[in-house]
Amino acid sequence: MGIDPNFRTSRQVTGDHSGHKVYAPADPPPVPKEKALGIHGTIVGVDFDLCLADGSCITACPVNVFQWYDTPGHPASEKKADPINEQACIFCMACVNVCPVAAIDVKPP
Ligand code: SF4
Repeated sequence: MGIDPNFRTSRQVTGDHSGHKVYAPADPPPVPKEKALGIHGTIVGVDFDLCLADGSCITACPVNVFQWYDTPGHPASEKKADPINEQACIFCMACVNVCPVAAIDVKPP
């Protein structure tokens, strides 16, 4: 199961973080509900509840969209690829193609 490609319209926005929106977790989430972090980003959405901190996306991105964000105690991984610079995305889809758990969805605004 990868990121929900419809999250931009089907999920509530629960907050803002580092200049991007945060969307509600899946219901039910793939991790215990009290630990669920939801999806970060709109142009470049990363499902933090799926992200395993593989890091391939950070290496692959030619324009440095991602930065590590520490999430201590999260069951899937204790850091996440945070799309802090999603406005810089050039839609090459490299991150989408390398993510081992399909945690990333990219859509031009
Ligand atoms: S689609 Fe390409 S440019 Fe955009 S975040 Fe992914 S790797 Fe970076």
